[in-house]
Amino acid sequence: MPATIIDGKAFAARVRTQVAGHVTRLKQDHGITPGLAVVLVGEDPASQVYVRSKGKQTVEVGMKSVEHKLDAQTSEADLLAVIDRLNKDPEIHGILVQLPLPGHLDEDLVINSIAPEKDVDGFHISNVGLLGTGQKSMVPCTPLGCLMMLRDHHGSLSGMEAVVIGRSNIVGKPMAQLLLGDSCTVTIAHSRTKDLPEVVRRADIVVAAVGRPEMVPGDWIKPGATVIDVGINRLDAPEKGEGKTLLVGDVDYESCAAVAGAITPVPGGVGPMTIACLLANTVTACCRANSLSEPEGLTA
Ligand code: NDP
Repeated sequence: MPATIIDGKAFAARVRTQVAGHVTRLKQDHGITPGLAVVLVGEDPASQVYVRSKGKQTVEVGMKSVEHKLDAQTSEADLLAVIDRLNKDPEIHGILVQLPLPGHLDEDLVINSIAPEKDVDGFHISNVGLLGTGQKSMVPCTPLGCLMMLRDHHGSLSGMEAVVIGRSNIVGKPMAQLLLGDSCTVTIAHSRTKDLPEVVRRADIVVAAVGRPEMVPGDWIKPGATVIDVGINRLDAPEKGEGKTLLVGDVDYESCAAVAGAITPVPGGVGPMTIACLLANTVTACCRANSLSEPEGLTA
């Protein structure tokens, strides 16, 4: 039987609709408009595209969107001053500093200067610690999106074997924590893992977050397993025209889809969920800031 395609684009649209509903209620019942501030330093073209897209979607769900575009040469002190103002601004409930930052800026210092309750990326050391100890936190958007899709597909994840390939702080590690929180038996694999194919073959759930195009072939996948492909890799595609590129994930889609029970495509899988979860986190942060009950189904 062919694998079920987990449609992240459609799922993200549903999440945005839910978020928009909560925003409407916050406005009507409490006179509160959730606000998201995005800070971009420099002119990295990919970051500019992300920031534009985040701003557009923020406005579409009815929230207030604020963008701070700072010069690539901005000093650390000036950037920290902008964050400090946003931390103190009662109309701003979520703050996101677009990464990567130019080399002269200390990313850890900058991220940890965001008020933890407004850290909608979930990268602040307090949120990392809260997630690691199973407490209420802001959860990184990409792993949160993966978890939502897995819960939607499986219902309970309890007792399932999960293998996360990749141990980055923004995807692999928080993903593993979330799966553990849902009572999976979790293995985190990385570049030093011995016999990776055998490790992956144990998994009922495989999350690939490696950054290597089509690295995971179908014969690593246990029949019927669910495959979540976080990877975003751009390959040159001269056959599509000069300068054209092709977007592929970290798994070889064709061979994995032939064996898996369910799989996320690239594009149209995890990618669209990331911004949807950013909006969800902003609404959650807004509710927490105002001591209102949190929207159900939008948090871990
Ligand atoms: P990192 O480069 O930070 O981490 C990659 C991880 O993969 C590392 O832990 C590394 O191991 C591991 N790895 C590298 N090579 C191998 C290998 N041959 N075998 C096993 N493990 C290996 O990447 P990110 O976590 O930031 O991102 C991963 C992918 O997800 C990228 O393609 C990125 O573009 C994509 N991404 C997608 C998002 C979305 O919205 N869909 C959001 C964020 C990322 P080690 O630690 O040992 O070096």
